[in-house]
Amino acid sequence: MNYDIAIIGAGSAGLSAAIYAARGGLNTVVFENGLVGGQITQTMEIENYPGFEEVLDGFTLTDRMKKQADRFGPEFKTEEVKNVTLDGACKVIETNKTTYRTKALIIATGANPRKLGVPGEMKLTGRGVSYCATCDGALYRGKTVAVIGGGDSAVEEAMFLTRFVKKVYLIHRRDELRAVKIVRDRVFKNEKVEFIWDTVPQEVNGENGVESLTLFNKKTKETSKLDVDGVFIYVGIIPNNKIFENQLNYDDQGFILTDENMHTKLHGVYAAGDIVHKTLRQVVTAVSDGAIAAFSAEKWIQENEHKFE
Ligand code: NAP
Repeated sequence: MNYDIAIIGAGSAGLSAAIYAARGGLNTVVFENGLVGGQITQTMEIENYPGFEEVLDGFTLTDRMKKQADRFGPEFKTEEVKNVTLDGACKVIETNKTTYRTKALIIATGANPRKLGVPGEMKLTGRGVSYCATCDGALYRGKTVAVIGGGDSAVEEAMFLTRFVKKVYLIHRRDELRAVKIVRDRVFKNEKVEFIWDTVPQEVNGENGVESLTLFNKKTKETSKLDVDGVFIYVGIIPNNKIFENQLNYDDQGFILTDENMHTKLHGVYAAGDIVHKTLRQVVTAVSDGAIAAFSAEKWIQENEHKFE
């Protein structure tokens, strides 16, 4: 056995699990193939994470979590997990480098932005099509951009973009925003944001950069062209569940089903954060999941120690 506990993913949920597991004295490893901090590193302003009066950016918050975790000594490995076998007493984790065996596993692989799936989107990604206003917003100083979506991300990022751009068209497929009230109230007061309701993009046009969008109004059935310099797409998230395939139970969108102890259907296997089926995806719920998962895993290891001898 290489480790007591392995955590896949070092976003907020994984980092919280690492703090709890390593502080609990468990020999802990965290696998992260991308950036430590996960999705929230791309958020510029977090004002609802308790304990911080000042507005924090996601990178700073998760950087502090990583430094806090380091105090307790979990191992962080920059390796891509390719395959996992979860049904035995030992969980087997195959990465791009080697194979590890662990007593318990916490899945904290999170979720990624959903693509629109329209012509031009892939071709112009990185050349005017973006999924991250925090990363790319400053490139559009004085320009006109479109934001697609009506959820919290679309609305918050549209407002963030107004710091730089001349105008934001917020294009939503219905005539009512999904975003929470406080965010809705703010965006309606923002004079740089113009709403285009009941409308979906059909194509992103341009050769070497975005030039315009072809739009389709679902009510009037009319097609139109809107000149924009950039398009920011926020149409939801899809769970990173590929490596677990059919080994767990999922909801109809592929998020992992757990009980209140973050326990999946398999012994010694827990899930935490955005990958989990839940109603509120926030840093505060991700870190809570991570703590519960690590606590539950620790208890499970104690009760089942005889199986690993
Ligand atoms: P979301 O809440 O799922 O919203 C996705 C939006 O995209 C919806 O308005 C949806 O329209 C629209 N959409 C979906 N597929 C589309 C398509 N093919 N074409 C056009 N529009 C499409 O996703 P999110 O905004 O990324 O948020 C994800 C989670 O993170 C949520 O739980 C959210 O509350 C949370 N979050 C919280 C904060 C915060 O509290 N500070 C910030 C960001 C995100 P419909 O409305 O018609 O379904």
